[in-house]
Amino acid sequence: MLTEAMSRDSHQFVRLDSGDPAGEGQTSLRNPLFGDPLFGLDAKTLAARMGQAGEPAWRGEQLAEAMYRQRVAELSAITTLPKPLRERLAGEGWEVGRPRIVQVFRSVDGTERYLVEGQSGDPQTVETVWMPEGDDGESGDEVEPEGRHDGGRTTPGRSRATICVSSQVGCAVNCQFCLTAKLGFQRNLSAGEIAGQVIAVFDRHGVEVGRDRVNLVFMGMGEPFLNYDNFMAAVRLLVEEVGLSPQRMTVSTSGIVPGIERFAAELPEVRPKLAISLNAPNNTIRAEMMPINRKWPIEVVVAAARGVKLRPRERITFEYVLLGGVTDGAERAREVARLIRRTGLPAKVNLIAWNPGPGIAYSTPNADSVEEFRRTLADAGVPAYLRRPRGLDIFAACGQLKRTVETENA
Ligand code: SAH
Ligand code: SF4
Repeated sequence: MLTEAMSRDSHQFVRLDSGDPAGEGQTSLRNPLFGDPLFGLDAKTLAARMGQAGEPAWRGEQLAEAMYRQRVAELSAITTLPKPLRERLAGEGWEVGRPRIVQVFRSVDGTERYLVEGQSGDPQTVETVWMPEGDDGESGDEVEPEGRHDGGRTTPGRSRATICVSSQVGCAVNCQFCLTAKLGFQRNLSAGEIAGQVIAVFDRHGVEVGRDRVNLVFMGMGEPFLNYDNFMAAVRLLVEEVGLSPQRMTVSTSGIVPGIERFAAELPEVRPKLAISLNAPNNTIRAEMMPINRKWPIEVVVAAARGVKLRPRERITFEYVLLGGVTDGAERAREVARLIRRTGLPAKVNLIAWNPGPGIAYSTPNADSVEEFRRTLADAGVPAYLRRPRGLDIFAACGQLKRTVETENA
């Protein structure tokens, strides 16, 4: 079993992040009376807050600049604000309250999985994953926007990094093959908790926005479209305050139709790319794997996706988890190809070999059938990419995020 193998070959280490100099080594308990954190508020709201504090509105801009661009994690360290003001605001209970990485698991392949402490005082952490070589599924897409945020320059070794971001603690959707589903739904993350995962990881890896090419995938724990407002507020922060391109972001949904409809109405300046977890060639198999299919079957999801006004050369991604003996096999591949072609959408398929988890009775497909599946799709005119599993030894791969510290004692 994988868990036993992991126990024997433990490559991960666990440490506290040093993003908070004063906090290193401290436990993560917060004051239960912890007020509204500043991190997560946009520049306009920060300006209004400053106004309420009797300060000019441009002080809000300074706060936004410090928290989101300079990544200052403590109010006391925001030196653009006069010291007496910092002290007064801290005395009135103001604090940045940025999410913190409290544990790191490192894979042999360089992938890192983080447990990130949120803002609410909730002791439950969320999970974020850093993949230094990117995610083949997402980077297997030649439609990469160039220039605007890169200046064409990249840094070797980190040019293709991808961060996988969580949107909820646990998940209510209950897909039968997914470990996160086992947690059930615990709570929604705030906008600050979603964007904060990105900023904390940027800090850890010294990412320079505008120079390094980092993709974000909202494919961690949870269903982003069941936490729509906070998810989109986080995206707006990352685009407008941090300076990232929405064309380097992909959100994955299990097919929450009202969410897809709202997403379709977002302005292109802030709309990430869309991925849909198809996972099966037809409604019968899909409904067995994903109970949500009974509410919103494939054709209804596709109809909603058709409402998204794609940018030139943009495609919709269909994710497809290969379950050995269930969703793999050449006949299934041909069925998927027909389905995708029938949608008439500019689309590609990201194939994900199922990653095992304790208590889930599916099996991983063999490597040959995965490649055969990809080729069958490609031969039928459907571009298909294989997403290489990342960080399997630290439970960081797709569908394995479960707020687990299981590898910690390995
Ligand atoms: N809730 C969203 C995003 C998070 S799941 C969604 O379902 O789309 C991200 C991707 O991981 C989905 O495509 C999902 O089908 C896939 N996934 C879940 N469990 C998996 C597992 N055990 N192995 C491989 N992929 C998995
Ligand atoms: Fe939730 Fe996505 Fe897992 Fe389904 S696959 S249970 S929607 S996180």
